[in-house]
Amino acid sequence: MRVTFLGSGSAMPTGERFQTGILVQEGGRTLLVDCGSGVLHRLQQSGVGYENVSTVLLTHHHLDHVADLLPLMKARWLAGEEHLEIVGPQGTKSLLDDLLEVHEYMQGKLDLQVREVVPGEFSVAGFDVSAYETRHSLPCLAYRFGDLFTFSGDSEAFAGLANFAEGSAILVHDCSFPDDVDVSNHPTPETLGKALAGREIGRVYLTHLYPHTDGRHDEMLESIATQYDGDVRFAEDLTTISVE
Ligand SMILES: [Zn+2]
Ligand SMILES: [Zn+2]
Repeated sequence: MRVTFLGSGSAMPTGERFQTGILVQEGGRTLLVDCGSGVLHRLQQSGVGYENVSTVLLTHHHLDHVADLLPLMKARWLAGEEHLEIVGPQGTKSLLDDLLEVHEYMQGKLDLQVREVVPGEFSVAGFDVSAYETRHSLPCLAYRFGDLFTFSGDSEAFAGLANFAEGSAILVHDCSFPDDVDVSNHPTPETLGKALAGREIGRVYLTHLYPHTDGRHDEMLESIATQYDGDVRFAEDLTTISVE
C-alpha cells in the first residue's frame, strides 16, 4: 500500500501545507481520503491526477476537509470523466445536495454516487475499512485499513482512538498545535503522547498542522517522546510512504 500526503495542513494556511487530503493506493486501486483546499492541485503535482480519483472518502464536513470537492467534480467533468463516488459520515448526502443547489450548473454533470457510512466495517473503492467515531466539534470518523494504515481524521487524542489504531503499521494522527496552545477538539503533543503511551504502532505521522507548529517540530516530538517511545515524524505534503 502507498499512502501519499496531499495536504498536511489545516484551516489556517502555513504557506507550505495545503488542507487535508491523503491518497491511498494498493494493487491498482486508488482512494482519496478528504478533499480540502489545495488537494486538487496536489493531486496533479503527485502525478496521479484528478482523472484517476473516482472515489472520495470523507472523515467529516469541516471546510478544510471538503473545500475542493466541487472543484474536483468540475475538473473531472471538464476532463470527460463521468463518475464520482463520495462516501462519508451521516449528512454527506445533504452536504452534496446543498453544495449542488448553490452551484446549480454542476447538477447532472457527473454520475454522482453518495453513500453514508457509520462506525463499523464497510468497503470502499475495493478497500476494506473500519470506521471509528472521533472526538471533534463535528461528527467525524477515523478510518483503518487492515493492519497497514489508520487515519485519525480530526480528533482529540483519547484511549479509544489509540486502541482503534493499535497494531497499525502507520498511524497518521491530528496534532494541530504545540503544547502551549489551549485547545479542545484537537490534540497537542502532550495529550497525544499520553494517549499513545504503551501502544504498538509501527510509525506515527503528525498532520493537520496549524501555523502555530512552524519552527516547533523538535519540541513537539520531545513532548510526545516523554510519554510514547515509538517512531514519530511530521507529515509533509507530497511525501509517499510505502507500507507492507
Ligand atoms: Zn474538523
Ligand atoms: Zn480539519
